[in-house]
Amino acid sequence: MFKLTDISTILFITTIINLVVTIISWRRQDVQAGRYFAWAMLAITCWTFSSGLDYSATTIPLKILFAKFESLFYHCSLTLFVMFALAYSGYSDWLNKLNSQILLWSVTVINSLLVFTNEWHSLIWNGFTNNETVDNVLIFHHGPGFLWIVATNYIFVLSIFFFLWKAMQSASELTRRQAQFLIGATFFPIATNILYLFEIIPTAQGVDWTAVTFSFSGFLFLMALYGTRFLNIIPIANHLIIARMPDCVLVLDHNNYIIDFNPAMTQKFGITKNHLGEKIETVMMNWHEVIQLTLSDVDPPPLEVIVDSPTLSVFDTRLTRLVDERNQLYGKLIVFRNVTVRYKTKQELQQQLIETQELHIKVQYLAERDSLTDAYTRRYLYEKLSEWINYKTPFIAALLDIDKFKQINDIYGHTVGDEVLIGLTKQLFAMAEENDVVCRYGGEEFVVAIQNTSSQEVLSEFEKVLKNFREFCFSKFNVGITISIGLAEYPIDSEKLDEILNLADKAMYQAKSAGGNQIIVFSKK
Ligand code: GH3
Ligand code: MG
Ligand code: MG
Repeated sequence: MFKLTDISTILFITTIINLVVTIISWRRQDVQAGRYFAWAMLAITCWTFSSGLDYSATTIPLKILFAKFESLFYHCSLTLFVMFALAYSGYSDWLNKLNSQILLWSVTVINSLLVFTNEWHSLIWNGFTNNETVDNVLIFHHGPGFLWIVATNYIFVLSIFFFLWKAMQSASELTRRQAQFLIGATFFPIATNILYLFEIIPTAQGVDWTAVTFSFSGFLFLMALYGTRFLNIIPIANHLIIARMPDCVLVLDHNNYIIDFNPAMTQKFGITKNHLGEKIETVMMNWHEVIQLTLSDVDPPPLEVIVDSPTLSVFDTRLTRLVDERNQLYGKLIVFRNVTVRYKTKQELQQQLIETQELHIKVQYLAERDSLTDAYTRRYLYEKLSEWINYKTPFIAALLDIDKFKQINDIYGHTVGDEVLIGLTKQLFAMAEENDVVCRYGGEEFVVAIQNTSSQEVLSEFEKVLKNFREFCFSKFNVGITISIGLAEYPIDSEKLDEILNLADKAMYQAKSAGGNQIIVFSKK
């Protein structure tokens, strides 16, 4: 019943090749296009196998039976291939509709029914003769229905080419190469089919070499699967989760051409389908830091990318290099993780910290400075002098009291009194060095503390203060105002802070008792 001829042997080898491609593609079903491709390859494998059985069968009923299955699987593979081309070129939405599925499969069902019921109507073939030149081959005499079958088949074939061509137009270098392989792989069987249909090669009459040339196609598919990692890189980007996530995802091929991106990428960075196949350098010109990431030879550290329109968005951006088992780079995955909320909280915290620091400085200033004269407060004086005493730093403390100040207020008013206090403070600061303390000790009493000096050394300085202050008051308010000053020294006079200030006060009273406008240095005698 069966006889292995040259043609059937070639067809069985073809079947084995197609089976290998089917098994390999079967593992890549995680994308829609991969799923249709795997099923199409299974249908092609069944087709070449039944074709092999047809050419090796020796009885006419067997030959007709296998020819019918051949036709069935051929139609299935065409339909599945159209579906693959649609999914591959991005028309999945259309494909997912029930109507389109019914439309596609109805052609296969009608044509297969026509073939399987040919005995009743003889529309597809109405007889056959034996091929004289080729061993064990029947030549079918085609009926009018065969024309319909050929026409529908070629509409399918043309749409396969059309959608693969579409994919080639709108894609990156990598996808372009893949689409070229796919178009090449489909072209050869189609060409041979045309030769068969129009009986261009007379010697091959009755032999449909289409199935045979599919072994060649199988090789091209294998090359596409491994050489260009067909169905390998696209699943990464097309995954539903990635399409819906708020973070932006960008997939590049190894030459930094944009292969894929998710909707968030369009929303935040304005990347559209038109940018597919373009270099990232030209598309993301305004984001130098991102381009810099793509130039790295290793996985670079993450960086912060800020997009300020339409609203402020901040992205923690990471690039992952996609390498195969042999460490060959085949693409790059950039994920822009939206960290705007975190960024804004951080900014707010920083702002709050600055405000708190400013407030702290203000509070400290208020605690340390007198509001009228800007001289240091008593609290500050005590702090500083305690510090100096801790470090055993010698200093003198001068206590100044304005003579008969109450009268100034009474006669000239409080405003003049205030200005006199401010004027004296300025003169004291002018005399003091950076580390010295000028303190408003009470209403019209001041303490000046000077480091690393002796009473004798500063005496002349205070004489100058007395003189300048008198002149200042006279020239400004036309009044004669004087000061009494008492001086005490640490650690000579005492080692205790309160005592030093008391001794200075004592000396000041001595000066006042003696008529004011003078300086008395405390002495134990
Ligand atoms: P003495 O010669 O004994 O020092 O007489 P005095 O009037 O200077 O001393 P007394 O302590 O009797 O008076 C101090 C005056 O200083 C009383 C108060 O009116 C005045 N005074 C205190 N603080 C201020 C101030 O901030 N502005 C003004 N204008 N006057 C002040
Ligand atoms: Mg006083
Ligand atoms: Mg006074």
